[in-house]
Amino acid sequence: MKYTYQLDPVLLSDLQGKKETFWPNGLLKPFSPVESQGIIDAEQRLLRFAPYLKEVFPDTRKTNGIIESPIRYLPRMHEVMQGYYQTTIPGKLMLKCDNQLPIAGSIKARGGIYEVLKLAETLALKYRMLEKKDDYSKLANSTFKDFFSQFSIAVGSTGNLALSIGTMGAALGFKVTVHMSQEAKEWKKQLLREKGVGVVEHENDFSFAVEEGRRHCLKEEKCFFIDDENSKDLFMGYAVAGLRLKEQLKQEGIKVDQDHPLIVYLPCGVGGGPGGVTYGLKHVFGDYVHCYFAEPVNSPCMLLGLASGKHEAISVQDIGLSNKTEADGLAVGRPSALAGKMVRELLNGVYTVSDENLYKMLALLHESESISLEPSALAGMIGPAMPRIRAHLGSLSLTDDQLSRATHLVWATGGDLVPESIMQEYVTKGKRYL
Ligand SMILES: *Cc1c(COP(=O)(O)O)cnc(C)c1O
Repeated sequence: MKYTYQLDPVLLSDLQGKKETFWPNGLLKPFSPVESQGIIDAEQRLLRFAPYLKEVFPDTRKTNGIIESPIRYLPRMHEVMQGYYQTTIPGKLMLKCDNQLPIAGSIKARGGIYEVLKLAETLALKYRMLEKKDDYSKLANSTFKDFFSQFSIAVGSTGNLALSIGTMGAALGFKVTVHMSQEAKEWKKQLLREKGVGVVEHENDFSFAVEEGRRHCLKEEKCFFIDDENSKDLFMGYAVAGLRLKEQLKQEGIKVDQDHPLIVYLPCGVGGGPGGVTYGLKHVFGDYVHCYFAEPVNSPCMLLGLASGKHEAISVQDIGLSNKTEADGLAVGRPSALAGKMVRELLNGVYTVSDENLYKMLALLHESESISLEPSALAGMIGPAMPRIRAHLGSLSLTDDQLSRATHLVWATGGDLVPESIMQEYVTKGKRYL
């Protein structure tokens, strides 16, 4: 029970009581431009790889090798939520469908795949097998696979990062070993083994799996460790989403400006995914975008790291929480050292959500819009219905008039690879709670 003295006692007691709660970020500052070269580099690197991705992953053909997901309106869910939670949600309700991202079926197809591609490019350039002006579809040739097979990649994961790194790394020819934490789902491990990825199972949590991955990798020659707790590359891969979303909203004729705020709700695990996306969105929309993170009541690591100012030096176990949640993608007890520091002046706040509410929203969304998400991906969904978030937006001087023109964008972070029978169990369980 360390470090608790700096937290507001009411907040601490809510957290320890596993009550859904909200922490408004007192460090939020009026926007000043962020360093954007990293985002632009990432966008350009992904463009160079597009011909390769298009060739190797047929599900990226319709987007010309660009890994991107659609946005869509949720008119029926909007009504259902207002009825179920007895509230009104002014403005439009939309979903960012990262559950449909090609190759990995989750938000990890942004950062994870980007970091592997960057590594592959760096090595191929260094060994003079590639020039930046080349057509990168040549990386699909066996010469490159043979070349990459002398290198290995290791990563620690609760499941989805392993799917993204494993799938991409194995396709390029790397030897990939994934270190899975205890909550990793069996079907995710199975899928990886089928792709020729080495799966090491740990009876411990995410932070432990990361440590083990790092330790094993250090002992090996030519092993690259992908560090979900501290990687700038992962972060910038996620941040590209901001540039992409700007184009998508424009195409839909959706304005984002003083009178049309964009409010974004992002499920948060270690923080790199939602942190990178927030960074990219702020770069594009500045003060007109408002970002909230969502965490399970048992795993509020980013909330704790930010609210205490301790970042990675505090864990949910330090305040007596178990870090046990059905939301495997969010089962992280200690936040990223990098992500919290990158977003501490950009983020509006963090709220927590119970597993029960995750399942309820899973069922409601499935029934109303026929969209199938994994439990983690529903954490953002309750945000637009939360009175405390509404009040917080008001405290930032957003008027009812402005809010009536708001776009609420819920970030759906995963689900497309979930086997049908397991999805059915999720829906059944959710309906029981309703
Ligand atoms: C990983 C993940 C997140 C959160 O990303 P972090 O980088 O861990 O914060 C959210 N949803 C799903 C489904 C994920 O797999």
